[in-house]
Amino acid sequence: MNTQFEFEKNHKQACGIESGVNFNKADIGTFREIKDFAMENKELKMVSEGKVFLHDLLKLTGAEISITSIPANTKAPFLHKHKNNEEIYIVLAGQGIMHIDDNEINLKEGSIVRVSPDAKRSVDNNSDAELLVLCIQTKTGSLEGFTLEDAEIV
Ligand code: ZN
Repeated sequence: MNTQFEFEKNHKQACGIESGVNFNKADIGTFREIKDFAMENKELKMVSEGKVFLHDLLKLTGAEISITSIPANTKAPFLHKHKNNEEIYIVLAGQGIMHIDDNEINLKEGSIVRVSPDAKRSVDNNSDAELLVLCIQTKTGSLEGFTLEDAEIV
């Protein structure tokens, strides 16, 4: 049995992949369809349901971006931390609780949280509706110029 084929058949895949010299594009569907994606971690022999990562899809070079659907009334299975990357969590829909070290932070649509690499973190959905979270992972201290400092009108 081709396990990769089975995996792809059972989960949503991005489509509309386009690339040019200076761009990469993919369609992931509506945010409500994020729950149908899954990430396969072959090293940990683990499948994470309801998660799409954009690094490989868009060939990102300075960030990893993920969108995660956490089902109603679901606790994160573990805490995690990072070696070098800070994370910015942006709540797209729903509500929940974020654990950051000894802090419990209430999340709702529009909440945005930056977390330092070393902090132990997890996100729980303690509500009766889906929680959708976009997470940007980028190397701490790597940003040199931004907004108008880095942009050039051409
Ligand atoms: Zn992380």
